[in-house]
Amino acid sequence: MSLRAALMAVGLLGLGWVLFVSFVAMGPLGWLAFGTIFAVGTAQVVRKLLRRSRSTQGVTTVRNCPACGAPNDPDRTACRHCEAEL
Ligand SMILES: [Zn+2]
Repeated sequence: MSLRAALMAVGLLGLGWVLFVSFVAMGPLGWLAFGTIFAVGTAQVVRKLLRRSRSTQGVTTVRNCPACGAPNDPDRTACRHCEAEL
């Protein structure tokens, strides 16, 4: 193991230790806030990935409502958002 790799390993260990200590020091309120932010972020990433995979498949063709512009299934006769006739 070279000196640079050893220093990098020590640095990573130190960084992990600082993160761990600050996480413990946050206490239950900090864990709650952190967990909420983490959950919301994860949900948004998953939703974005799902939307992208659906759009790349190109299976669904949508028809936009003339009144409010909301996307509707092509077989619908009324907008599902504002009930306007399509
Ligand atoms: Zn509408």
